[in-house]
Amino acid sequence: MDIEFSHRSLGLKASEIRELLKLTQRPEVISFAGGLPAPELFPIEKINLITTKVLNEQGRQALQYSTTEGYNPLREIIVKERMNKSGVKTAIQNILIVNGSQQALDFSAKLFVNKGDIIICESPSYLGALNAFKAYEPTFLEISMDDDGMNMDELEEALKNHNNVKMIYTIPDFQNPSGKTMSVERRKRIAELSSKYKIPVIEDSPYGELIFEGSPYPCIKSFDKDGYVITLGTFSKTFCPGLRLGWICAHEEILKKYILLKQGSDLQSNTLTQMIAAKFMQEYSLDEHIEKIISVYKKRRDIMLDSMEKYFPKEVTFTYPKGGLFTWVNLREDIDSIDVNVQALKQNVAFVPGASFYPNGGNLNHFRLNYSNMNEERILEGIKRLGNVIKQYY
Ligand code: PMP
Repeated sequence: MDIEFSHRSLGLKASEIRELLKLTQRPEVISFAGGLPAPELFPIEKINLITTKVLNEQGRQALQYSTTEGYNPLREIIVKERMNKSGVKTAIQNILIVNGSQQALDFSAKLFVNKGDIIICESPSYLGALNAFKAYEPTFLEISMDDDGMNMDELEEALKNHNNVKMIYTIPDFQNPSGKTMSVERRKRIAELSSKYKIPVIEDSPYGELIFEGSPYPCIKSFDKDGYVITLGTFSKTFCPGLRLGWICAHEEILKKYILLKQGSDLQSNTLTQMIAAKFMQEYSLDEHIEKIISVYKKRRDIMLDSMEKYFPKEVTFTYPKGGLFTWVNLREDIDSIDVNVQALKQNVAFVPGASFYPNGGNLNHFRLNYSNMNEERILEGIKRLGNVIKQYY
């Protein structure tokens, strides 16, 4: 076909995870690849009742166009029940409902980044965000992480030395992919740095409430004095990803711009699903539902990590996430995890090789494992098989 695509679209690649997910849909595959919640925990019967109620009681409104900002009762619940819990005092004028935080990631780069500008991100970082950002042709500057998250001295050096940094992207809680969490000290520091250098921080927090041990950390936004921190939330991991409901919490001046982008992109998020979610949270407790999710995922994390200790070679290291959905595995430097993945797939086990989480390449010797989607029996069996595959390299 003789057709000319935009420069912006030329660098786009299919997401490796989405491609891999197609393979892993075969029932015999034990998949640690996606970041899928456990579908058996979706509250289907309750949602069924609620949907009927919404349609019976407010059907005309639910099937009609509505405001770009989102359904007010849902925005109120987000302010009072979700943001407040993370230490953020905010109001509904600061909340825009979006189709999952993925849409907010796309909007963020669209809003702040011109071609060639620098986006600072953690090394490694969430592949879906990197792919969304790539459409705006940025340069990525990766900041190393340790067990307390992004290295703040390195971040400040980068902010000092480059005058075209346009946004800092971070996943502070149980990071995708590394499972690491940013310390409270660093949360304060990154908020200060964003004010000092007047650079927005995109705080992407889908996992902060899925906490197995210890108390939740306050959002970076709770330390934000001047409005440079933009927090992205989502109901995908605490409720149901198929509803596609997330939000942006930002200073009103910034939010106004996001609202314009949302209008131009799709006018508004789905009215019906917003009303279903709001009604669910009025009639039932989302916190109780989250407790159930946590108890299942914690057991799955434990069985995964215990079996990794048992069946992986001793030289292989990995994170002990205190929440969230992922652990991150470090192999010997000369081992290519893409090759390990090919061998593992022959044993019907899948994971995501680490290289795709580094926007500037390299780092072939890592991979990400998800523990939320497979039951305990399959996790045990999958890790045994994976251990045998990895042993061949040692
Ligand atoms: N950010 C991160 C770090 C994620 O892991 C995900 C989903 N895997 C998203 C954003 C997007 O989530 P959603 O669009 O479903 O809210």
